[in-house]
Amino acid sequence: MPTRDPAINLKSLSKEIVAGHRAALARAITLIESRRADHQAAARELLQMLLPATGSAMRVGITGSPGVGKSTTIDALGMYLLEHGHKVAVLAVDPSSARTGGSILGDKTRMARLSAESAAFIRPSPAAGTLGGVAAKTREAMLLCEAAGFDVVLVETVGIGQSETAVCDMTDFFLALMLPGAGDELQGIKKGLVELADMIAVNKADGDNLTRAQAAAAEYNAALHILTPRSEHWFPPVLTYSALTGTGIDQLWQKVLDHRTAMNASGDLAARRRTQQVKWMWSMLEDRLKARLRADPTIRAQVKQTEASVAEGGMTPAIGADTIAHLLESSRQDPKSRPRE
Ligand code: GDP
Repeated sequence: MPTRDPAINLKSLSKEIVAGHRAALARAITLIESRRADHQAAARELLQMLLPATGSAMRVGITGSPGVGKSTTIDALGMYLLEHGHKVAVLAVDPSSARTGGSILGDKTRMARLSAESAAFIRPSPAAGTLGGVAAKTREAMLLCEAAGFDVVLVETVGIGQSETAVCDMTDFFLALMLPGAGDELQGIKKGLVELADMIAVNKADGDNLTRAQAAAAEYNAALHILTPRSEHWFPPVLTYSALTGTGIDQLWQKVLDHRTAMNASGDLAARRRTQQVKWMWSMLEDRLKARLRADPTIRAQVKQTEASVAEGGMTPAIGADTIAHLLESSRQDPKSRPRE
């Protein structure tokens, strides 16, 4: 285990976070996102200290293709929640940010009203490489936000790849946003996205779009009835709303509350959180083991060679796995090493 950076006073940092100091919260998230092994050790210790102060927020995942209105929705929903006395944190999982160097999600400029509010905290996606790495850091940032007193955490993601599953795996409620009549109704079903969704909300139900939005909602509704719902205590509703005018934002939130009530009563919420905790543990372990394999250039080269042999058919996957497991056993983690995520 690497030792943590002794210059960081974790006790006072955790106190400041619990007292709701935003600068301390931002500093702690930066610590979590740091790739330095001593920073990561400090971050782990900090999270363990703050653990009792976490877990009470409503964790809501929001997905949708670019242009569907995620930022407009989060801005409107966030303002609605602030008016109702909540403190709202907005986080994002955007694996593409690792490639582009900047996240397109969770950017303050996209949520103009909300970002000006002191009861809201907006943080863009960490740019930490793999989806697993990005998701892990967002999960930890979420815990820090909870410790800082944010009682609603909105986690945004784009409707691509595995990022939706990652966000669904860290939230209590997963909301899929759709466009009216964009011809992607059935595409959404194919992608399996709606199987993850606890609710489908068709945005832009205003002006000329109103009828098309209602038609799209009816189609989703019909499609959902063919699928087996994830929980026997909750059937995902489909609704229409307008993030631009704010019409339907209250009903949208009411559904999130109804879901919570139902999931609490059935014990499904606690079960979902328990399953997630264990899944997080394994995915962290997986990431750490992979980081260990990447940390040493010799081992990295041997892994690549093994991969190539398996790909060419010269080595069975089983022998390949044996070989890599051996490499893992022989690797010794240097405390000063900086494993790449
Ligand atoms: P994101 O890429 O999913 O974050 O989408 P944005 O929130 O940036 O919205 C994309 C575009 O759709 C912007 O031009 C918004 O003004 C517009 N938009 C968002 N919500 C609505 C809505 O409810 N009604 C209408 N008519 N336009 C909207």
